Amino acid sequence: SRIPRIVILGAGYGGIVTAIRLQKHLNYNEADVTLVNKHDYHYITTHLHMPAAGTDNPENSRVNISRLIDEFKVDFVKSTVMQIKPIEKKIILEDSTLSYDYLVVGLGGEPETFGIPGLQEHAMNIRSINSVRLIREHIEYQFAKYKGEPDRLDYLTFIVGGAGFTGIEFVGELADRIPNLCKKYDVDQKLVKIFSIEAAPNAMPGFDPELVEYATNVLTNKGVVFKLGTAIKECTAAGVELATGEFVKTTTVIWTGGIRGNHMLDQAGFATMRGRVKVDSFLRTTEYENVYVVGDCSIVMNPEGKPYPPSGQIATQQGETCAYNLIAAIRNTPPKEFKYINKGTVASLGKREAVGMVGTRKVKGNKAALLKKLVDMRYLYIIGGIPLVIRKGRF
Ligand code: FAD
Ligand code: NAD
Repeated sequence: SRIPRIVILGAGYGGIVTAIRLQKHLNYNEADVTLVNKHDYHYITTHLHMPAAGTDNPENSRVNISRLIDEFKVDFVKSTVMQIKPIEKKIILEDSTLSYDYLVVGLGGEPETFGIPGLQEHAMNIRSINSVRLIREHIEYQFAKYKGEPDRLDYLTFIVGGAGFTGIEFVGELADRIPNLCKKYDVDQKLVKIFSIEAAPNAMPGFDPELVEYATNVLTNKGVVFKLGTAIKECTAAGVELATGEFVKTTTVIWTGGIRGNHMLDQAGFATMRGRVKVDSFLRTTEYENVYVVGDCSIVMNPEGKPYPPSGQIATQQGETCAYNLIAAIRNTPPKEFKYINKGTVASLGKREAVGMVGTRKVKGNKAALLKKLVDMRYLYIIGGIPLVIRKGRF
């Protein structure tokens, strides 16, 4: 009989781990595996706050897919997915069409703007190598422009909308970067403002209150100004309007107010919540048992019936279970239920500072920053072994 075809869309955390596990465990000629991704590299999203702020080079946050994939076992197709057609079992790419027996969707998230006017047009997002290059260059350009128009303090005002983990990690890096930029462009540091604007009463909503307080103190001491309990209402080319009625003039808005699933899942007709598909306990869609969804495009419920927050950690674990279940489907053996094991959460606050929870243990300061490095290196080890840890680890 014909060899089953597995197509994996997206080489993010969920997709790349699925592909790596399949190439390790599938026997010769058991399945044809194709991995499709927009770029010929995988990005280490969990590092992106650093190149976005300019404290690290974007090159350090990406890995060529050819280094991770064995081309004898997995076909890599560099292309953009345009449409998923689950009834026809076809994928429309920008330049060709693929058919599949089994599909894995790991296309990642998209910025959620909640329909707030102007965000789409005027704010930037931390989501890919290209987007962080833009942010980094844009920030530096504002310093250069300010030198020619010294009354334009809005050039030196940086607004970060949303103080979730992404927003917090980014302001930590940006605060570290500002002194260097001030020195490079001969700008008085007192003129530079970083605002972290959060709708909820506290930064990092839902996280341990003691650690949140520690984090806000560390960042405040670095010069970040928090506006808590303050939602962004509108964004224009001139600045942002807050729920309080205040208008803050700025030429730089970084939106870290949340993510939703890839719009292609809605388009394909899957039942979604904010673009994300609630998968069954084997990570399959409820509509098609040959379609699996992993990472930010999926929703997995915790035992209390609430969705787990999307993360690289859960995406990686989903990739492992997804590969196992694909092999089980092909071999006609029992699949495995997905069980998320939270190994801990650490948020960086810039140089030598972080906060984290490991089980019920709280960690902060330099110890947490070291832990964060270890967690990041562990991921590099999972996908690329020791050589990748040595090349891309931020020691
Ligand atoms: P992604 O990693 O988002 O990758 C999606 C892939 O699909 C990309 O390669 C993209 O190029 C590709 N793609 C998208 N559209 C198309 C298309 N149309 N055609 C072809 N290819 C396409 N999580 C943690 O657990 N720990 C952390 O410390 C952490 N830190 C973070 C720091 C930052 C700054 C950010 C932004 C996120 C962080 N996260 C962290 C969250 C984590 O990065 C995401 O949850 C994770 O990346 C989701 O993985 P994914 O597999 O869904 O897809
Ligand atoms: P998020 O949804 O976790 O946070 C978005 C924040 O924006 C929320 O605090 C929300 O209240 C706020 N917000 C929403 N609308 C607003 C408005 N109009 N005005 C002001 N504030 C507004 O999004 P995220 O931070 O991008 O994180 C996405 C996922 O990735 C999360 O699950 C997170 O845990 C994970 N992540 C983890 C790490 C880590 O482990 N170190 C780092 C980054 C992201």
